[in-house]
Amino acid sequence: MSMVTIQSKLPNLPTTIFSTMTLLANQHAAINLGQGFPDFDMDPILQDLVYKAMKDGNNQYANSNGDPALRKILAEKIGKIYQQSLDPDHEITITPGGTYAISNALTSILRAGDEVILFEPCFDSYIPNIRICGAVPIRIPLNFPDYSIPWEIVREKISDKTRMILINSPHNPTGSILTEDDIASLRKLVEGSNILIMSDEVYEHLVFDKKKHLSILQYPDLFARSFVAFSLGKVFHCTGWKVGYVVAPPFLMKEFRNHHQFNVFSVHSAVQVGMAEYLKNEQVYLQLPALFEKKRDLLLKEMIGTEFHPLESYGSYFQCFTFPEDIQMNSMEYAVFLIKTKGVATIPVSAFYEDGQDNRVLRFCFAKKEETLLEASKRLKQRTTYSKLK
Ligand code: PMP
Repeated sequence: MSMVTIQSKLPNLPTTIFSTMTLLANQHAAINLGQGFPDFDMDPILQDLVYKAMKDGNNQYANSNGDPALRKILAEKIGKIYQQSLDPDHEITITPGGTYAISNALTSILRAGDEVILFEPCFDSYIPNIRICGAVPIRIPLNFPDYSIPWEIVREKISDKTRMILINSPHNPTGSILTEDDIASLRKLVEGSNILIMSDEVYEHLVFDKKKHLSILQYPDLFARSFVAFSLGKVFHCTGWKVGYVVAPPFLMKEFRNHHQFNVFSVHSAVQVGMAEYLKNEQVYLQLPALFEKKRDLLLKEMIGTEFHPLESYGSYFQCFTFPEDIQMNSMEYAVFLIKTKGVATIPVSAFYEDGQDNRVLRFCFAKKEETLLEASKRLKQRTTYSKLK
């Protein structure tokens, strides 16, 4: 037996809930409304553009900061949508996905003992990314059931160790979005401080009901202290390609790139060239709110008649539902039960709280084909004898 020992940097970390539920869904041939990825295919035009880029010889290391044409067209897009004029050479870096953009931003800045304020439920990479730096996550629960930010509590939690506030809008897992009041509260808290902002905006184009995504990029004073993360996998329905980007002012981007060049150096070259070409057609992202709003509305309509009660969702891939008190199971048990007895996989929102806080809410991903959503809701409407099965 080896005498070599290590001290884990992330002890007691469970396997991600997404892997757990997807494995169970596959074992029971369940419809997977758990993990957040589309079950419809991406646009073949983009596939062709990437194939052409490969044929044209874009197969060696790309520019470490990202393909210049892709950074340029992203800067133009940001200028049009958020009225923020960016220097693509110093303020945008292409990354292997949004998760990496966030983790590289955090590890390039955080030091042991720094505090990061974040809100639960939250995307499950944030807390390990903070802890691996020896920094301390200060977890604040969002108000239930509207999942708004309790700004008074944020004010109380700010200390001389607060290095960063991490926000996410549109929000995973709840579908809530930031309002102008939230931006005003955030501004008041950070004004004159040394606090940075990490803004996860990977669902920027998925905002419904005529509401608008408020990006940190729209507010020059806030952007001046922020990293903003985006995901092209989400925008182009190709989450498996793992391409995203981070936007930050030059003094922060310099630190980001110092790490990035030795973490991964560069991102898949042909994919970047293909995406730069594809983005010339604005419709590829302008059509997204309508496409996804239709899916959310279909799910909401078809879930009428089930025991689930919808919470408000204005954006993202996700719609949350509560389930009745007389079902004597917690959210995790109930999600497993639904996979096994109804053949539908969801994610318990309790899994997005480090302490497992349970408001009896399940997250459904509606980034699916119409027929998938119809079949899932049909299965959920079927009567079961769950009390006997418990
Ligand atoms: N942030 C949030 C809130 C997400 O939901 C996701 C993907 N599920 C990511 C970041 C990661 O994006 P990517 O797949 O581009 O790494």
